[in-house]
Amino acid sequence: MSQELNNLTIAEAREGLSQKKFSSRELVEACFAEIHKREPELHAFLEPFFHTKHQAEEKEFNEGALSGIPFAIKDNILIKGQVASAGSKILENYKASYDATVTKKMWDAGALFIGRTNMDEFAMGSSTENSAYGPTKNPYDVSRVPGGSSGGSAAAVASGMCLGALGSDTGGSIRQPASFCGVVGLKPTYGAVSRLGLIAMASSLDVIGPITKTVEDAEILFNVIRGRDSFDSTTADSRITNKELGIKGLKIGVPKEYFGEGLHPEVKKVIESAIKKMEEAGAIIKEISLPHSKYALEVYYIIMPAEVSANLARFDGIRYGSSVATSYKLQATSLYDVYAKTRAEGFGHEVKRRVMLGTYTLSHGYYDAYYLKAQKVRRLIRDDFVKAFEEVDIIAGPTTPDVAFRFGEKANDPVSMYLSDIYTVAINLAGLPALSMPAGFVERDGKKLPVGLQLVGKWFEEDVILSIGKELEEIL
Ligand code: GLN
Repeated sequence: MSQELNNLTIAEAREGLSQKKFSSRELVEACFAEIHKREPELHAFLEPFFHTKHQAEEKEFNEGALSGIPFAIKDNILIKGQVASAGSKILENYKASYDATVTKKMWDAGALFIGRTNMDEFAMGSSTENSAYGPTKNPYDVSRVPGGSSGGSAAAVASGMCLGALGSDTGGSIRQPASFCGVVGLKPTYGAVSRLGLIAMASSLDVIGPITKTVEDAEILFNVIRGRDSFDSTTADSRITNKELGIKGLKIGVPKEYFGEGLHPEVKKVIESAIKKMEEAGAIIKEISLPHSKYALEVYYIIMPAEVSANLARFDGIRYGSSVATSYKLQATSLYDVYAKTRAEGFGHEVKRRVMLGTYTLSHGYYDAYYLKAQKVRRLIRDDFVKAFEEVDIIAGPTTPDVAFRFGEKANDPVSMYLSDIYTVAINLAGLPALSMPAGFVERDGKKLPVGLQLVGKWFEEDVILSIGKELEEIL
């Protein structure tokens, strides 16, 4: 019996715990049993927290929305006293001295943390191949990537090693792995969830959100972590619109730019059939245009690296993380040497590539030509959405142009890797909320691989896409 508890949804587990059908300890043990079975092959975790078993016993079940339920946390979100390495060598031994606002809120709601999950280094990547600790495998086909950068969290949820997880999304890192692993991922509105205690990648784009088995579970977790935080001045409370919008009569915008060249025909078929089902259920489908979205990837790859280069300047061998100052082998002879050697040793290729790109576009003489120009185009991308939302309630389309790819397929070609975020980055640039949910499967080499449908909502209207998502789960 306890072996299957790990496959429950958060809502089901909460119900079972409250009726004392099983204990939190049994639930945690079921997850660890699955970890013992699957983890050697999948490598979703950087560190399972075995001490959680004892916490499960000590913590009394209470009214908290997550009471007694085990979660996995992406390795760039701080849990006091635990290592948070952001998938990087440079933070290999960095222990968090405080809880992120999200972890504190989850802890207060009764959650248990059963491990920290693997990710692309500093959340830069789409496959977990950029992790300094080796890649995570896709539970549907271990020769394929789980997506990234929150690939560990998505694989852990998809394989039943935990009931839910947190990820972070800067350009697609919750939605793309959720899509590749056949689970639900919610990227909240920028500012709907506090970033205190999230190791920063690109501060004007980063947001923390849930990765779960069902849309209802994503809603439960989002309701715990969301809200204004005095420690993060960019936060605001989400509107609870209570619009009671159902699929019937809902105006759904389908951007023509998301169905053109580059979208795999089989993926297109799955997404079109999901949209058709919504139409049959009474939705009004409207073709819309997001004319500036064709510049989204270029704009993202100017703004994001600029912010990365500023944020990662703090890893200098003095203030955080590992340092060559104390290494005999790499003896540094000057302060500059400490910086240079620490960073050369501690960062991987992709991180270095982006720091260099960002430093270049921010440099005197190029700032206006690149960074400032990109900010202006970012505004136009956002305005496309403002215009679209005058006509429609939500926007629907594919999360990614294709299903999970094979290891090595894109690792040596950064641009082809970047293209897997073509439908997600514009939404980060605009700061909108978006949900990726399983819409069906395509078959490759005799294996079924999941396809994700993306639903984009108006700013701070997560409740609309969540309620539509829940209804859609029933009819898909
Ligand atoms: N894959 C994208 C990138 O490499 C997005 C990453 C993210 O959302 N953290 O930048």
